[in-house]
Amino acid sequence: MKNQYMLDVLETVKKRNPGEPEFIQAVTEVFETIEPVIEARPDLVAAGVLDRIVEPERQIIFRVPWVDDSGKVRVNRGYRIQFNSAIGPYKGGIRLHPSVYMGIIKFLGFEQIFKNSLTTLPMGGAKGGSDFDPKGKSDAEVMRFCQSFMTELYRHIGADCDVPAGDIGTGGREIGFMFGQYKRLQNEFTGVLTGKGIPYGGSLARTQATGYGLCYFTDEMLKANGKSFQGQTVVISGSGNVAIYACEKATELGAKVVAVSDSNGYIYDANGINLDVVKQIKEVERGRIKEYAERVPGSVYTEGCKGIWTIPCDIALPCATQNEIDGESAAILVKNGCYAVAEGANMPSTPDAINTYLANGVLYGPAKAANAGGVATSGLEMSQNSQRLSWTFEEVDEKLHNIMKNIFAACDSAAKTYGMEGNYMAGANIAGFLKVAEAMKAQGCV
Ligand code: NDP
Repeated sequence: MKNQYMLDVLETVKKRNPGEPEFIQAVTEVFETIEPVIEARPDLVAAGVLDRIVEPERQIIFRVPWVDDSGKVRVNRGYRIQFNSAIGPYKGGIRLHPSVYMGIIKFLGFEQIFKNSLTTLPMGGAKGGSDFDPKGKSDAEVMRFCQSFMTELYRHIGADCDVPAGDIGTGGREIGFMFGQYKRLQNEFTGVLTGKGIPYGGSLARTQATGYGLCYFTDEMLKANGKSFQGQTVVISGSGNVAIYACEKATELGAKVVAVSDSNGYIYDANGINLDVVKQIKEVERGRIKEYAERVPGSVYTEGCKGIWTIPCDIALPCATQNEIDGESAAILVKNGCYAVAEGANMPSTPDAINTYLANGVLYGPAKAANAGGVATSGLEMSQNSQRLSWTFEEVDEKLHNIMKNIFAACDSAAKTYGMEGNYMAGANIAGFLKVAEAMKAQGCV
């Protein structure tokens, strides 16, 4: 990046956000790819769009006290970052994981601005979470935590203001507890959260949406390059919500998924992952993925996460967490013949990994485009709640499919317009940025 104005803004970001490397990484990645737009648009510079877009509109940090099953008081820290509302109400998930701190929530909130813009739906960017770990907690403990979390959060959110959703550690159970508490405190039944259960305003296909959407996007990217999922070997990291439904759709589209993982280790199953077993372990029993090897003959479990990227594959779909593929793992993927990587997780590839993909002609579907199907379907859930209607699974799935096709087309076309054909990361950043930038300029210095 050579543009002095952009370098100055980035310097300010670094000074203002010390000790938050993930956020700096996310901003740097976007800046590096939108440089040609900034060069061509002095009006956006004059409107201070970049100076403003890197600063969250509002950040909330709060105490979350709760009592565990033994009667002991526990305290976690809660976060909500309302990053940008230029094109719609704040929207973004809630992450519950011990690694959560301000830098993680900030990077996720920043990414969410561009992702939500790409969906074509009217949603601003936000993210929230807590360092609470739902793993190993009883249902009653999770409920008490969620109720306490919402007892502060409820005053900052609302169906037309800020609509949180799930993320790592926040699934249907947690959303249900949070929704119940919001309803009790506000005495109103509105679409204030998405990812709700079907009986109380959830959308059909929301559970499947991020994983299915990832495969729809990947399918478009493959087709545009003369390839398809048919007969391909796929490695998927994670075994949570995104990974499970990516595995389901990739298999349906003719691929063989040979690996899944969790934060302890990974499974290799040369016969193709048996998804019913994974669902039973992860969705029903909330167990560990190593149990798969005890139930499926011929499969192998290996401790540690990184080794999954040494399994030869045609297509890699990282669906666990940030920075899970580094330069070394990317080089091994390439050496073993992997020609496409599409991101279900947020920022799973380090900058070194991305450079390795681009230098070796690997088709690369960046997170903010490839995993936008989740939030897009959350947007569709908001529409159904506003209309007081429920659409069928097929209707929602078809809309999701079209949105993912359009997102790929927008990335492809923006990359071509700015002379970076085939660089879908640049295309996604440029297309996502431009819509928000125009809205910010039009609304004046706010
Ligand atoms: P889940 O909590 O359902 O699953 C997360 C999976 O990733 C689990 O298998 C988990 O293993 C593993 N994992 C989590 N943290 C780590 C870590 N530090 N190292 C290795 N593995 C880890 O979350 P989701 O499937 O919802 O989310 C996965 C990714 O997708 C995240 O990056 C999220 O931000 C992104 N995403 C999710 C969307 C959604 O709709 N849910 C939408 C868009 C993006 P373990 O069980 O051992 O913790």
